[in-house]
Amino acid sequence: EVDMRGRTALVTGGSRGIGAATALRLARDGADVAVTYAHGEEAAREVVRTIESTGRRGVALRADSGDAAEAAGAVERAAEALGGRLDVLVNNAGVGVLGPIETISFPDVDRVLAVNVRGVYVASRAAAGVMGRGGRIITIASCMTQRVPGPGGTLYAMSKSALIGLNKALARELGGRGITANVVHPGPIDTDMNPADGPMAEGQIGLTALGRFGSADEVASLVAYLAGEEAGYVTGAEFSVDGGHAA
Ligand code: NDP
Repeated sequence: EVDMRGRTALVTGGSRGIGAATALRLARDGADVAVTYAHGEEAAREVVRTIESTGRRGVALRADSGDAAEAAGAVERAAEALGGRLDVLVNNAGVGVLGPIETISFPDVDRVLAVNVRGVYVASRAAAGVMGRGGRIITIASCMTQRVPGPGGTLYAMSKSALIGLNKALARELGGRGITANVVHPGPIDTDMNPADGPMAEGQIGLTALGRFGSADEVASLVAYLAGEEAGYVTGAEFSVDGGHAA
């Protein structure tokens, strides 16, 4: 358990998967938590109900991370809904389009970069405007930034790799204000995006040292550590929670 009492957090893409698990973990540790979603209103409401069952404040905000104004606005809306301040931003919302490079359409290139890169940039920028000392920006990138084990990952790996440079620059930009920025690289994690019983699962399992998929909760526990006070001297860094995928 990480002591998050009295802290407020926004998790983008918090209606399902890693984002939902992270939102619930931060709430169980004592934070009031807002989540964004693009389409899954009912799922986001259910996450809020579960947050509220822990006794914490929960807020669901519809905001498409692929729209720059909505992505930035969500940070301000979350801070306002949670009492005027935001301590933790988890940039989790992301999309993947995989396939041979010739088959990736230009609209797909624009959409993936808009959600995975520009959405993170503008949300982090907005967070910098509302965060005080002790603020935390935690960005979910991917094990595909460390090792691309086969074809089909050009667009996704490019989009996620941009977050590594952004993170280092954010750490330098915000360090003087006592705000940290870190990146988490999940390996194969059992979610709707990458189901453990999906057609690509066996190959991914074989690439891990542990021989299994990870759970969303196993990513959430690393995010919780980085969000807590004990991680106060950790910034500009990258952390893999990938079952040894990069080893
Ligand atoms: P899921 O597809 O299971 O869930 C995605 C979440 O993000 C949903 O809550 C979804 O909301 C939300 N979302 C998607 N697009 C947008 C958008 N444009 N604006 C706002 N919210 C959006 O994904 P995962 O939980 O698996 O992945 C979470 C993050 O982890 C992503 O960034 C992904 O790239 C990364 N990752 C995942 C890995 C895995 O194996 N699962 C491995 C490495 C990285 P809605 O319900 O409304 O669609």
